[in-house]
Amino acid sequence: MPERRLIDDCFLTDKERLRHDEALAILRARVGRVVGVEEIALDHAVGRIVAEGVASPRPVPAADNAAVDGYAFAHSDYEATGGWFRVAARVAAGHPSGAPLAAGQAVRIFTGALMPAGADTVAMQEDCEPHRQDGEDFVAVPPGLKHGANCRKAGEDLPEGAVVVPHGATLRPQEVAAIASTGRDRVAVFERLKVAVMSTGDELVRPGHPLGSGQVYDSNHYLLRALLDTVGAEVTDLGLVPDRAEAVLATLSAAAGRHHAVLTTGGASRGEEDHLVTSLDALGKRHLWQLAVKPGRPMSFGQVGDCVVLALPGNPVAAFVCFLLYARPTLAALGGGAFTAPPRFLVPAGFELSGKKEGRREFLRGILAEGPDGRLLVRRFPRDGSGLITSLREADGLIELDEDTVAVEPGTPVPFIPFSAFGIRG
Ligand code: AMP
Ligand code: MG
Repeated sequence: MPERRLIDDCFLTDKERLRHDEALAILRARVGRVVGVEEIALDHAVGRIVAEGVASPRPVPAADNAAVDGYAFAHSDYEATGGWFRVAARVAAGHPSGAPLAAGQAVRIFTGALMPAGADTVAMQEDCEPHRQDGEDFVAVPPGLKHGANCRKAGEDLPEGAVVVPHGATLRPQEVAAIASTGRDRVAVFERLKVAVMSTGDELVRPGHPLGSGQVYDSNHYLLRALLDTVGAEVTDLGLVPDRAEAVLATLSAAAGRHHAVLTTGGASRGEEDHLVTSLDALGKRHLWQLAVKPGRPMSFGQVGDCVVLALPGNPVAAFVCFLLYARPTLAALGGGAFTAPPRFLVPAGFELSGKKEGRREFLRGILAEGPDGRLLVRRFPRDGSGLITSLREADGLIELDEDTVAVEPGTPVPFIPFSAFGIRG
């Protein structure tokens, strides 16, 4: 990385600022797992990162069983009997029948019940005609059933030894269910990251208090807290920190010793009222500052001891975008997961744009819509302004315009990253 990219020059041009890919490369190279492993109960495991891959110790399901309520029989017998069986037993879920089927016999069976030995096919009860004759039960099964119909095979969900969840994967509700289906009630996961959050700015006041002249409610704290929930971090609130160098320095220094990461918003530029960069330089090391990215130019990243510091811009839209693009993968890697890039989907632009600056990557707030021909397109939120939380509410994701793009024609496919790719639920 060229030296000049790390100098403290607030008059950098976009050509001299770090490009998006360079910033990601620095972050990726600098961060790795900092947390230990713990074994936890499966009922609290959703959202956690798996420390040891989980394999199934047995086939799931453990044995062949009925997929519907009906009659189970041997398919080979089906042809011989013409579908006319004597009903020899009744088998319900959780009550296996001991007796194997004899020739010409079927059993009344219910969903989830074990297939008796010898049976391999089930006819749905809706298609069958039961008969009672001389105190005995018979059933007429319609023709055309294939061998194995309506029977779930042992191991069809998971063969024995199959990987249920690989190392480093995040547990979603469906993975939790899959682990439970193998009989395990505990899982080894990485410990939760301890992340401290601090909002800087003399103008800030916490919601719930009256708003004085010139004051602004601290929405970033709530924004970051909620975003940190999506990565399963344990959050400490460092409160509001005024725009004074000593205050920023003291709060950052105290928090660094007790957390894996500190996230700050505001005060990240090089103005007289901005103290994050100088504090980070005084206490530790800075690895990047100033990105050729909009929004997000003044973001910085560094470390105080072993604590990672991510200084996000104060504008809510910029804080949000920088969290998703840079903080989220960084925190994932610190927490034992992979440093991954979100997927991009090419969607035709439902807007026109000209005069975009070359050499800078821009992330627009994108709104998915149906075009006149019924196909999907993406519009941009019509107003600029990185203070507009409304734009984040209306958007479905981010439109990414790379450094070389200077204009967008309507209909041009543009990369779109849905918010769901960042773990934000719709
Ligand atoms: P700064 O990055 O400190 O120059 O702040 C840029 C803009 O973001 C200013 O208009 C601030 O008032 C606003 N801002 C900074 N921090 C917050 C916050 N925690 N909540 C809401 N707005 C903020
Ligand atoms: Mg400020």
